[in-house]
Amino acid sequence: MSRVWRKPETVSKSSQEAINKDVAGQKSFFRRWMLFFAIFAIIVFLTHLGITAIAQARLAVVPIVNVPIFTSTQLANNIDDRFKYLTSRVDGVKFSIYTVKKGDNLWKIAKNHGYSVHTIIGCNPQFTTYDVYENQKILIPSIGGTLHPIQQNDTWAKIADRYETSELDLKAGNPGTTELINGEYVFVAGKRPSVDLLNEQMQEKYALRDLFISPLGGRYTSGFGKRRHPVTGKTSVHGGLDISAPIGSRVSAAAGGTVILASYNAGYYGVAVYIDHHNGYITHYGHLSKINVSVGQRVKAGQIIARSGATGRVTGPHLHFTVKKNGVAVNPTKFLW
Ligand SMILES: [Zn+2]
Repeated sequence: MSRVWRKPETVSKSSQEAINKDVAGQKSFFRRWMLFFAIFAIIVFLTHLGITAIAQARLAVVPIVNVPIFTSTQLANNIDDRFKYLTSRVDGVKFSIYTVKKGDNLWKIAKNHGYSVHTIIGCNPQFTTYDVYENQKILIPSIGGTLHPIQQNDTWAKIADRYETSELDLKAGNPGTTELINGEYVFVAGKRPSVDLLNEQMQEKYALRDLFISPLGGRYTSGFGKRRHPVTGKTSVHGGLDISAPIGSRVSAAAGGTVILASYNAGYYGVAVYIDHHNGYITHYGHLSKINVSVGQRVKAGQIIARSGATGRVTGPHLHFTVKKNGVAVNPTKFLW
């Protein structure tokens, strides 16, 4: 038997063992690494938990500004909630709750605070009328401006556009508002409320006042309605509004229209001008000193039509202003700001 073929396993028995050993070695090598990674992963995980816990503990220690959360209904109807909400969010303006006193009206309150009625209306979306009553609570800002009820899909740019203000100023005035949430509010300094965002009742009232502008800047001395006549002493219905003004003050048309009367001898009114506005409304301007227009002339809103005076039945210089709707005198304060 010279060369007998030997089975390979017998030839390499020792090497097969070596291979087996090798495989076993590799297996234990992987097992060791797996174990190592598992431990490593657990350590990483536990460390992460620890860091989170520490971070949370830190956050709990650091005082966070408590921003109260209210629903849009609460904000619109509850003064106290709106007050708390705004106080934590605005800058450069302070809000306070004002209790209406006897004899107060919106115009008086606004004047005492140095701004227009629009500010009070804009900050009190619960209003459905201009009338206020004694002990009523209203929200009063320290500066003129309005609240903007945040609309769906509002952006700072959209709001700034609506009020013709800058996005930067708007954001600076509302540093506590990080997110624009529908139904919440931002304060827009120095601006009037956006009429289309007022409630229906106030929208109607604003629309009426858009019909006319004040014929004269001045103080109302005698309102519309029942009064004791200053000259005759008899109680009568005053069909207009007396606006005190020094003789010679410019009187302008409250709205566009046609002059239907321009008389230096209008009886009780003395020197007077009437304008037909072609929408059912006629306005009267009485106790004038000089007339600048003639009958039939078309005039624009704000155009100077006369100078005020003290003609006719008067106790002192003032402008008498009447608004008639379909021939019936209506309270001019409904139309004037
Ligand atoms: Zn009068």
